[in-house]
Amino acid sequence: MLLQEVEQALKQLASETEEAKKSDLFKNYLEIMSNFWDYSPYNQLLIYLQMPNASRVAGFYKWKQLGRNITKGSKAIRILAPAKSKKIKDDKKEETVTYFRPVSIFDISQTEGKPLPDVDIEVKGETDSLLQKLLEFCQKQGFKVRFEDLRDDLHGFALNGTITINSDKSNNTQINTLLHEIAHALLHKNSSLSKEQKEIQAEAIAYVAARHFGLETKSFNYLALYDANEKKIMDNLKVIAECMKTIILGISQL
Ligand SMILES: [Zn+2]
Repeated sequence: MLLQEVEQALKQLASETEEAKKSDLFKNYLEIMSNFWDYSPYNQLLIYLQMPNASRVAGFYKWKQLGRNITKGSKAIRILAPAKSKKIKDDKKEETVTYFRPVSIFDISQTEGKPLPDVDIEVKGETDSLLQKLLEFCQKQGFKVRFEDLRDDLHGFALNGTITINSDKSNNTQINTLLHEIAHALLHKNSSLSKEQKEIQAEAIAYVAARHFGLETKSFNYLALYDANEKKIMDNLKVIAECMKTIILGISQL
């Protein structure tokens, strides 16, 4: 695959991503999602320790505002929220001190009610032979792949050298997900890049590869979520092109 071909595909992806970011659907999505706090790294750790699969978390009243109720019997996730109080010092002057108090939050899986808007990244169709080839490629690279019945909004993930793919999704969605996870596995094993940059690289590779094999993708929606733009995508051209070579060469040699 020529560098030029990769470059052209990435430019196309960048313009599709810009379009996706302008759509009403996406703006609405961002508006709703802005309801969810940005948790501090420490709280993210607390959330992870208590519920490793948590995806969207919010407090009782926030969920209520969004039209969802906490399912009966759900165990709250406890995090620490900053609070301020006034204290009178020895010299009678007032002082504001910040302290932390535990608060309860809940994951979306512990709630029921109005569905949240979702950005569509699923693709229909069947390309069985390509999926088989990608699985063989993974085997040669030493990546373990499992298919599992995952939560509906999870397409797949990679953890401790094992790629897990949602067995409930269409064949083409599984291929797109597998390409994305292969890119992570090839590039990001010991990487100190930001989460955003890793996701842009992985999804751009999935896009270029899927296009190469003649598959539909919805990468623009995924990349819009990471606020990707032409510069952020094109900055990764070399890495993406190198990784593409590995995948395409690997598959052609099977
Ligand atoms: Zn990813």
